[in-house]
Amino acid sequence: MSAFDDLYAANAAFAKTFGASNLTGRAARGLAVVTCMDSRIDPLGLLGLKPGDAKILRNAGARVTDDVLRTLVLAVYLLGVERVLVMPHTDCGMTKVTDADVHELTQAHGVDTRSLEFHTVPDQAAALRHDLTRIASTPFLPADMPVAGAIYDVHTGLLTPYPD
Ligand SMILES: [Zn+2]
Repeated sequence: MSAFDDLYAANAAFAKTFGASNLTGRAARGLAVVTCMDSRIDPLGLLGLKPGDAKILRNAGARVTDDVLRTLVLAVYLLGVERVLVMPHTDCGMTKVTDADVHELTQAHGVDTRSLEFHTVPDQAAALRHDLTRIASTPFLPADMPVAGAIYDVHTGLLTPYPD
């Protein structure tokens, strides 16, 4: 018995009817989505996508970190991505704490996280603006590539485009 047996059992059933063996690693819809790790978000479902359509990049807060930029460069030049949607969401845990709060919480567990940057989000609109600018202004991605932001409402399922 392992902590993952439920998953292996579910996968065995999944593989029995697996029908995506002909897909390549290129994003068929030319899309990359940067979103949060929040377990309420179904990025493919909420955007009408299916496996094979898009690159999905997830982290705490849907932040455009160095690693997200690195991944976007690969996605664009090697894997068919031609547009990027940055999609934070309502009720995000990252908007409810500061980096200092996180350091304090982990310290209670005897862990010193002060060398980590958590990219917490005190102001979601400002963070999204910053992240969109980061993609638009990096010298490593095409200057004319469409980049948009939209906030996903985890209570209604609606996506609200963020004004340019
Ligand atoms: Zn979140």
